[in-house]
Amino acid sequence: MIAGRPDRPGALFVVATPIGNLEDISARAVAVLREADLIAAEDTRSSRVLLERHGIGTAMQSLHEHNESALAARLVDRIRQGQRIALISDAGTPLVSDPGFRLVAAVRAAGLPVHPLPGACAAIAALSVAGLASDRFVFEGFLPARAAARRARLAALAAEPRTLILYESAHRIVDSVDDMVAAFGGDRPATLARELTKRFETLLGPDLAAIAAALAGDPDQRRGEFVLVVAGNPDDGAAALAEGRRLYAALARELPRSRAARIAAELSGAPRRTLYEGDD
Ligand code: SAM
Repeated sequence: MIAGRPDRPGALFVVATPIGNLEDISARAVAVLREADLIAAEDTRSSRVLLERHGIGTAMQSLHEHNESALAARLVDRIRQGQRIALISDAGTPLVSDPGFRLVAAVRAAGLPVHPLPGACAAIAALSVAGLASDRFVFEGFLPARAAARRARLAALAAEPRTLILYESAHRIVDSVDDMVAAFGGDRPATLARELTKRFETLLGPDLAAIAAALAGDPDQRRGEFVLVVAGNPDDGAAALAEGRRLYAALARELPRSRAARIAAELSGAPRRTLYEGDD
């Protein structure tokens, strides 16, 4: 407790902001942003539009991946002195493919309070309208920018049984979807959510081939911001087989093949004979 301010303990508030429609912010988030001593914002210029719309005049400080570590120590000091600091990103929930985790970690390591103000998140908004299994899902964020690394990542995800959620930019959406058709098959059910909550909000589907065709046929469908939601691999044995082959490939470099296959089968649950396939 700070002398003179017993009712105002310092804290960090992690505040979700809209992903498009400026009305998608909670009344509590607006109140916290108004009453904060400082708002740490990824891009103060783009956040100003939101703050002005909601009559929030609080001072802002820019916090991005290049200054976050240095700034965290100063913000921890301010919180310790009883100040209330709000963290926002350009859109949606801070820390989700956005800066903030170093600051949150520093505040928590200092034993100071951190409060979430939940709200918009493009990944969850897309999942909520994709019409794909949502009981278990994996958030993959952005795929690697370079083609070879992206294809390797997709190959590693091909057997994943849970629904996949990926972010993508307009620059790479066509290449990424084409690579997914190659890695997962065009008939894999999927939804491409574009420009959610904005004027040109669009949902494409029902599978990767249809999404690739829609992107190829209409340049307007390649503009804006995207979330891809892709059904998991329905083949229960696929994940075990992929893991078994990965283990076998590594073990066979050091051990006789039969022994490598026996160990890989035991660890992965894949049938031993299937691990030899493609091995000459
Ligand atoms: N923190 C944000 C969140 O909670 O969703 C995500 C930030 S990340 C840097 C930006 C990416 O989120 C975009 O490239 C896009 O993939 C996705 N995104 C953000 N807003 C979106 C929208 N309105 N419609 C579709 N995707 C969106």
